[in-house]
This record gives sequence, C-alpha cells and structure tokens, in this order.
Amino acid sequence: MSSESLRIVWIYPDLLSTYGDRGNALILARRARQRGMPVEVVEVRSDQKLPSTADIYLVGGGEDGPQALGAQRLIADGGLHRAVAQGSVVFGVCAGYQLLGTSFFAKGVQCRGLEMLDLQSDRGESRAVGELAGEIDPRLGLPPLTGFENHGGRTHLGPEVSPLARITTGIGNDGTTEGAWRGKLLGTYSHGPALARNPALADLLLRWATGAHQLPPLDDTWSDRLRNERRSAVAAARA
Ligand code: GLN
Repeated sequence: MSSESLRIVWIYPDLLSTYGDRGNALILARRARQRGMPVEVVEVRSDQKLPSTADIYLVGGGEDGPQALGAQRLIADGGLHRAVAQGSVVFGVCAGYQLLGTSFFAKGVQCRGLEMLDLQSDRGESRAVGELAGEIDPRLGLPPLTGFENHGGRTHLGPEVSPLARITTGIGNDGTTEGAWRGKLLGTYSHGPALARNPALADLLLRWATGAHQLPPLDDTWSDRLRNERRSAVAAARA
C-alpha cells in the first residue's frame, strides 16, 4: 500500500459503468473497512487526470462508443501505465477487460488497447448474453466464478497471460476460457457486479494490494445465498 489508507480508483464512471460494475468499488471498500483498513474511493471522470498512486484501479463495462473513447483517453493520460509500473492492482470488467489488451473491435473498427495484457479481442458471430460460470485457475485458490455476461467481443489470449477460469456455463473469452490474469492485473467478462457475486475475488485483489497473505474471514452469509441461488438457477436452466 502506498499510503495509510487503501486508495481505490473507479475509472471513468461517465463512460464505463454498465450492469452494476460500480458495485465492485462498494464491495472492495466495505470488505477493507470491515477489516479495519481506512479506505478512500476516488471516482475519476474521463475529462480528469488519472492519479497514478492508487492501490487498486477498477475499469467497468461499456458500450462500443464509450469503450473506444475510454481507451483513447487512458492511453493519452498515461496514469494507469505509471500505476501498473509501480505495482498497482487493476481489475477490468468486459469493455474494461478488453481495453487492457492490445486491440479490440468497437462499432466494426479495430481500436488500440492499453497493451497491458497479452490478449486481443475481435467480434463473435452472436452476442454472448446470460449467466457465466467457471472453475478458477487453481493457483489463485478461489471458489468457482459466477457472473452475468453481455458482450459481442471474443477474446484470444497470448502466452503471457493465464485464463482466469475454465468455462462451465456461458461464453467468456471463447466458450472455453474466461477472463485473464498476469501479476496483479486481472480481467473478466463477469458483471453482476463481479465482486458482489465473488467476494473471494474481492479479497484476492485486497491481498494483492496490501501484500497480506491472509485476511480475517467475514460473514458471507448473504453472498453465499446469492451464489447458491445463481448456481441452482444455472443448473435448472441446463436441465
Ligand atoms: N462493447 C463490448 C462488447 O460488446 C463490451 C460490452 C460490455 O462491456 N458489456 O464486446
């Protein structure tokens, strides 16, 4: 952590904030405060300079136009690149995941990404809409991923990143894998919001940011109920 409080930046709420992705900032802040950590959440709009000294950066989903504009502004700003070079954590969802790669398609045009993750996205034959679930990379030690996806892009991973999960329901990157991670950078197609539906993933980001090997457990009764309800709904839809 770079200062006494944990600094979380929610990037471009005016462009990248679909399907409840702002909830990811709320969940991170709450879970940190419940462990006694002081937290500062900063929302940085796309006409503002991005601070490069925060601990965790969140980039949410967006429609094609705002996604392309968001990527252009993040490249021009340079703050996220400086933050990553200093060891900050980045969590990208859907459009916010695609734009961390080398390129993506928006409105039929190939756009440059931030080149932070070795992956590129093109368009699929159909939109991927619905529940998303998968078994997370065992090296991360997390329970199964659950979420909701809505995207037209398909993502192809290069050798420098690892898939976040193996798909059990939905499409994710390509119908086989979902999301990607490298170092303290992690991207997923999971909305819902992802960290409300996957509190263990929120805790992973908090551990990466603080350097803690373990965090005190919290009462996750309500999120466990949500996870079980979603798992049953997916199983029922399959049967
Ligand atoms: N515009 C992107 C796509 O359709 C991302 C959509 C999203 O963020 N939900 O693939």
